[in-house]
Amino acid sequence: MKVHEYQGKEIFRQFGVVVPEGYPAFSIDEAVANYRKLPGDLAVVKAQIHAGGRGKGGGVKLAHNEKEVRDLARNMLGMQLVTHQTGPAGKQVQRLLVEAGVRIARELYAGIVLDRSTGEFVFMVSTEGGIEIEKVSQKTPDKIIKEWINPGLGLRGYQARKLAFALGLEGAQVKSAIKIFQSLWQVFYNKDCSLIEINPLVVTEDDQVIALDAKINFDDNGLFRHSEIKELRDITEEDPAEAEATKFSLNYIKLDGNVGCMVNGAGLAMATMDIIKLNGGEPANFLDVGGVANSKTVANGFRLILSDPNVKSVLINIFGGIVRCDRVAAGIIEALSEIDVKIPVIIRLEGTNAQEAARLLKESSLQFKVAKSLQDGAEQAVKAAAGGAK
Ligand code: ADP
Ligand code: MG
Repeated sequence: MKVHEYQGKEIFRQFGVVVPEGYPAFSIDEAVANYRKLPGDLAVVKAQIHAGGRGKGGGVKLAHNEKEVRDLARNMLGMQLVTHQTGPAGKQVQRLLVEAGVRIARELYAGIVLDRSTGEFVFMVSTEGGIEIEKVSQKTPDKIIKEWINPGLGLRGYQARKLAFALGLEGAQVKSAIKIFQSLWQVFYNKDCSLIEINPLVVTEDDQVIALDAKINFDDNGLFRHSEIKELRDITEEDPAEAEATKFSLNYIKLDGNVGCMVNGAGLAMATMDIIKLNGGEPANFLDVGGVANSKTVANGFRLILSDPNVKSVLINIFGGIVRCDRVAAGIIEALSEIDVKIPVIIRLEGTNAQEAARLLKESSLQFKVAKSLQDGAEQAVKAAAGGAK
């Protein structure tokens, strides 16, 4: 789960990560009222969307007085902000952050992610902050300095010092950076984050180190113990189909292909996507309807799959272990009699009561194609999506 910069900064504050004073605004008047609360004249108006690169796209602007804040807020609220992370359609700006302007001496980078290859977390810093860090890591990977964190031990003092020195910090800056690094680790660990990124982490003209940007992703599997984080969710920023799926407790991920898949179990769903690709097709989605594939979950799953206009055929692949195939078949028949499906649906049911299931499907008036095997099902689905069969 992602949150907005202003929400991330609020969490940073709670853990002692220094950020500029600032307040979120949902309207022009609120932006101006926020500006009045700030200590100095220099302020920054920042569009709040779940994507980076806002500065380049015109979503981060300096303001020196009330009129400028008002004009900027008027322009930004409602605008379609396009950055390298939003895709060409951009994202509509519905919230702003009005924060104190900082006099910047240097722009650095700091981030923490999970390194799956070592099973540890990795704390990264770079002197090349402010710009697209992805480019730095591609072109000059040696400019990213890394310290691996054993989750049982946490970020050690010597590691934080090493990172601070690698950034070329001096005197009071070192102390200030070490404190930030340790606080960042505390945020990451205590809030079950999957990623924290501060780009830029800046050194101010008076030698303070502060976080000017805040990107935090939370591990969805840890959200059950963080109701305070769940409340920060902004559904308007998410893929509508994926948000809908969460409501029905379905695991749905939209992909770019045209063969829709409905499968029970995540492992089987992965295997189903593999075999579609093996047959020259491209899956349109990952969908795990879970262990209880009843008519309700099937119907909800179907609506999700069909909400994607790219989908040209659907492969239903159910393995009946605890769940009985005949029950699933009845569920599919019931669900499909309610929904108007205009594309070919191929069904492969195997396992407990598969024969009974096949009979039910055959006797129903709906136009399914029953697959003899998983390979046969994948082949039929790919062909149908390509327009080869009806
Ligand atoms: P994004 O990464 O989406 O472009 P940032 O929050 O990193 O957005 O802002 C872009 C740039 O704007 C920063 O690199 C920094 O130079 C400048 N900036 C952001 N916030 C402030 C601030 N409070 N004071 C001064 N400059 C800022
Ligand atoms: Mg940034």
